[in-house]
Amino acid sequence: MRMVLVGAPGSGKGTQSQRLIERYGIPQISTGDLLRDAVARATPEGLRAKAAMDAGALVADEIVLGMIRERLAKDDVAPGFILDGFPRNLAQAQALSALLATVGQPLDVVMLFEVDYPELIRRISGRRSCSRCGRVFNIYTSPPGTPPHCDRCNDEPPLVQRKDDDESTVRQRLAVYEQQTRPLADYYAAQGLLHVIDANAGVDEVSARLYAVLEALPNVRSAVGRSASKRRE
Ligand code: AMP
Repeated sequence: MRMVLVGAPGSGKGTQSQRLIERYGIPQISTGDLLRDAVARATPEGLRAKAAMDAGALVADEIVLGMIRERLAKDDVAPGFILDGFPRNLAQAQALSALLATVGQPLDVVMLFEVDYPELIRRISGRRSCSRCGRVFNIYTSPPGTPPHCDRCNDEPPLVQRKDDDESTVRQRLAVYEQQTRPLADYYAAQGLLHVIDANAGVDEVSARLYAVLEALPNVRSAVGRSASKRRE
């Protein structure tokens, strides 16, 4: 199953991706994670991307597309993939369509996560991650315990807020989403791929809504059966 998740920062794409990985046995590809990794490793792409990321702007298409081409060429995407945070504008969406057409593997579905503005702000302001393993918590919706710590990393490294989660950068990222990313809804609706999910609810409820849509798609039902029997082996 080849799937794209579109949604504003804080709409829950990353959280839901973790559940979709488990349920369908396909990898998540997050361009935000790939870019943060490139910045951390100070690769040439990372060095070029950093300023745009710090400002809450989009990184140049050529950098992101290069990363996506490389990632989609790996073997683990053969059963499908979850694209999280890509595409982010029309040029990227068209490049993705062209790339997938050349390998005869078109998208199966695009899920658009709709969340009200005040709820997005609340979720982003509560987001914290472990400085060691990168695991993401939310002080409102998935609290890290008292005192706040990552229970996977025993020596309790501090939980940190992402640099681009500060208030003014978040406002900029939300504006970029409205201007450049949300219009992708029309592009994918015209292809009959778009499903809109009301993602204002809690994590479990949003998962249930996603599964209901996905498992009504014929090719997804069979993929669930395959990955469930693989897990039983
Ligand atoms: P995310 O983790 O998806 O919120 O992405 C964090 C930041 O990485 C964004 O604010 C952008 O600066 C950059 N970024 C992530 N994905 C893309 C993309 N597909 N195109 C351009 N920039 C991106």
